[in-house]
Amino acid sequence: MKRIAFFPGSFDPISRGHEDIVLRALPLFDEIIVALGVNTAKTYMYSAEQRLEWIKKTFVDYPKVKVVSYQGLTIKACEKHKANFILRGLRNSNDYEYEKSIALMNQEMAPNIETLYLNTAPKWAAISSTSIRDIIKNQGNAEPFLASGVQL
Ligand code: ADP
Repeated sequence: MKRIAFFPGSFDPISRGHEDIVLRALPLFDEIIVALGVNTAKTYMYSAEQRLEWIKKTFVDYPKVKVVSYQGLTIKACEKHKANFILRGLRNSNDYEYEKSIALMNQEMAPNIETLYLNTAPKWAAISSTSIRDIIKNQGNAEPFLASGVQL
């Protein structure tokens, strides 16, 4: 069985924390699909096209990483892409509680898809896309927190 992980998120924009999770998970999987979830009810700072371009650029040197976008339920998108794992990053106990409730419901709906978590590297634990957007909106330098493929 091929081990295919689905790494869903908004990536608005993709950060060093996101990049680090994918790179550290690479040895564990045959393929990692970084999946941009598009929620039509949500407003984003950057367009889906822009966010996808940055994600693709970040992982251009890694043939095991695929980049897609999807709408609707994550487990449905996993089934479509034949992913048998959902990969998530954990920064703190809030992330854990939030992720746990989603993972438990997903497990009930799709028992063949396991959710796996990696702890954030301490260096990136404070980073959130929300704070990055705040820095950018206030003309600060967000560069140290942005994934390698992001060019503002
Ligand atoms: P969502 O809108 O689903 O929360 P995000 O783009 O914010 O999407 O995050 C996608 C995934 O990356 C989530 O599992 C989140 O916990 C994780 N993540 C976010 N920031 C970091 C970080 N600094 N380090 C590690 N993982 C992170």
